[in-house]
Amino acid sequence: KDGISDIASAAAKVAAVAHPLAEKPEEIASNISYHAQFSPHFSPLKFELEQAYYATAESVRDRLIKQTYYLSMEFLQGRALTNAIGNLNIQDAYADALRKFGLELEEITEQEKDAALGNGGLGRLASCFLDSMATLNLPSWGYGLRYRYGLFKQKITREGQEEFAEDWLEKFSPWEVVRHDILYPIRFFGHVEVNPNGSRKWVGGEVVQALAYDVPIPGYQTKNTISLRLWEAKACADDFNLFLFNDGQHEAASVLHSRAQQICAVLYPGDATEDGKLLRLKQQFFLCSASLQDIIARFKERRQGKGQWNWAEFPTKVAVQLNDTHPTLAIPELMRLLVDDEGLGWDEAWDVTSRTIAYTNHTVLPEALEKWSQPVMWKLLPRHMEIITEIEKRFTAMITSTRFDLESELSNMRILDDNPQKPVVRMANLCVVSSHAVNGVAQLHSDILKQELFANYVSIWPTKFQNKTNGITPRRWLRFCSPELSKIITKWLKTDKWVTDLDLLTGLRQFADNEVLQAEWFSAKRANKERLAQYILQVTGESIDPDTLFDIQVKRIHEYKRQLLNILGVIYRYKKLKEMSPEEREKTTPRTVMLGGKAFATYTNAKRIVKLVNDVGSVVNTDPEVNSYLKVVFVPNYNVSVAEMLIPGSELSQHISTAGMEASGTSNMKFALNGCLIIGTLDGANVEIREEIGEENFFLFGATAEEVPRLRKDRENGLAKKFIRSGVFGSYDYNPLLESLEGNTGYGRGDYFLVGHDFPSYIEAQEKVDEAYRDRKRWLKMSILSTAGSGKFSSDRTIAQYAKEIWNIEECRVP
Ligand code: PLP
Repeated sequence: KDGISDIASAAAKVAAVAHPLAEKPEEIASNISYHAQFSPHFSPLKFELEQAYYATAESVRDRLIKQTYYLSMEFLQGRALTNAIGNLNIQDAYADALRKFGLELEEITEQEKDAALGNGGLGRLASCFLDSMATLNLPSWGYGLRYRYGLFKQKITREGQEEFAEDWLEKFSPWEVVRHDILYPIRFFGHVEVNPNGSRKWVGGEVVQALAYDVPIPGYQTKNTISLRLWEAKACADDFNLFLFNDGQHEAASVLHSRAQQICAVLYPGDATEDGKLLRLKQQFFLCSASLQDIIARFKERRQGKGQWNWAEFPTKVAVQLNDTHPTLAIPELMRLLVDDEGLGWDEAWDVTSRTIAYTNHTVLPEALEKWSQPVMWKLLPRHMEIITEIEKRFTAMITSTRFDLESELSNMRILDDNPQKPVVRMANLCVVSSHAVNGVAQLHSDILKQELFANYVSIWPTKFQNKTNGITPRRWLRFCSPELSKIITKWLKTDKWVTDLDLLTGLRQFADNEVLQAEWFSAKRANKERLAQYILQVTGESIDPDTLFDIQVKRIHEYKRQLLNILGVIYRYKKLKEMSPEEREKTTPRTVMLGGKAFATYTNAKRIVKLVNDVGSVVNTDPEVNSYLKVVFVPNYNVSVAEMLIPGSELSQHISTAGMEASGTSNMKFALNGCLIIGTLDGANVEIREEIGEENFFLFGATAEEVPRLRKDRENGLAKKFIRSGVFGSYDYNPLLESLEGNTGYGRGDYFLVGHDFPSYIEAQEKVDEAYRDRKRWLKMSILSTAGSGKFSSDRTIAQYAKEIWNIEECRVP
């Protein structure tokens, strides 16, 4: 007893200062004291043996921690409440508590607006990754922007899609904590000053402030909570011109305030104009600069080096992952902070930067590979352009002096494209040259990167290129969105450990033929279908029959994703049904086809597709001869919450992109995990899904990625097109859309996406679907095998691979 009070009084005398890399006993003692006082596990006044143990362990742990920062312009978080109470395992307690007020937990969770800070798969991937990082106890954070209005809210009218501001912050979000003390200056425009000693400094221009909002991300049944730090732009206080205001010039007085507000107003502001382009570039730089200043501040705080930082240590403590090229400016910004502010030499700064940064590529579509106008960049970020020019100079010098064989390829490999008509910076090339690791997001995609897009770089840096097949969190995408199916899985596997060890699902294979499991499976899926039918009625007014096959395609509307192929298939089916006798119709497999997704506001052909789906729906659904065999519904405003409703109730889903064009896809994984069968092409992660669940459980069709280039010539699928042109679906002029299947529109070559080529094999595959669905036992077996084979697609697996193979970080469990 006396010994313990001695320890306590000794500890109280040691000043509590964190010196994470301490060598001297006094500093180590001060670290231990620091944790005893400031780590919130125990009362700071106690210092007994147990507390002393934890404080010692934490002081040792500080030395080990390397932290990952995931930089992304998008986080498609969706709702937080169900996920948080699910991860904390307090659903029942909260449901009981709410019942005391006469309320159901479900009604309460539906009040929450989706955090709409993303656009599609890339943003949702980032959110799944955060869930896995927290669940795996990894020291990692996300960095993003706090968009005031997100992307947009989609409404469907007679005209097709209309966009409205998505006011997700209308009242306030209870899930964010504003950090008034975490504020960084972000500069735009200005010029570079050269000091007498030759060092350079970016000065002048406009300065706004980045203010931090932290969103806590709980792990599943862990004590760990990580942060998603979102930046908001604020004008500096003295930017308000009181003189002008009092002079009656109210708008002019606050022009800098409104300019700051524009930065985080919306995700992907229209970029058809120069101002629009400039705003997008500002957004990207704002994210990169604020995050890097914050990362460096944390590094310094932990090192307590009083100006003597060992920068060579930085990459052993910090890993930065760029989610696509949107945060590429992190590269020149880190160089600038190290060279201009910290006084490092170029080589040292380059070594730190390239060992810290890694890049994930998400697309091979040429129009999606970012290129920024050089003049715009020089205007907005003059110092960064100097740095990029220097990186380029050193890279080309390396090629011309060591790789004569690549000289003819150099113009494609360069970072700067100096075409006098349109000089641009190629962001993907900058990422590849500057990062220590580059990864694709599914095996096929990574192979295409290595063999085509980045082939020349592979010959220089063969080990830089990796694959990290995407994944999804099984918490949100099965455990919480389908409690019914989850209960059955837990019952048959006799454990709920599959929620964090998804490979355990293979244990279901042995029961795939079991009639009891099949009956339970059927009733869980049926309950989800009924819930979905209720939802569809509520949001569209259309009544759909849960006895029909529920066939769903939901994703961003894009020509390469080929919603047009789907709807042409529906038109074909409609026409066939019209030609049948009532007896023949009775023998068909009745279907409800649901499509959903947002078309980018300025993407006219995508909006025409939305309109066509709706026009086809209004004819088919009101045709009494046909509408008990076929219905077509457009589900408005597709987002995470809508996905959580649709996916559990799905039986067939369509992932039918032209082979070689979808990098991975992640909704394919969500559907497969929920026992939904896939009709699809050999594209993205479909290839691996098919391998895992067995080819007999996948409805495959279409050209392969290898065949596509050869097949890209004018093809036809006359029947459905003629039918649309005949005016059956209204008088809207669909010619421009149909011409994309034949003429020289859009992508320049007829039927670039091979809708016509793949149409016959698509129809054949759909016939196989109809046949399989008529055999309920067979279908249920396939559905069980689909779930059983989905273990690989957990984002826990993906993140564990990033942690080990790119970030070199280890789990850091909260005691
Ligand atoms: N949008 C939302 C709301 C999603 O949940 C997902 C993924 O599940 C996507 C877009 C991406 O879909 P896909 O992988 O089909 O492109």
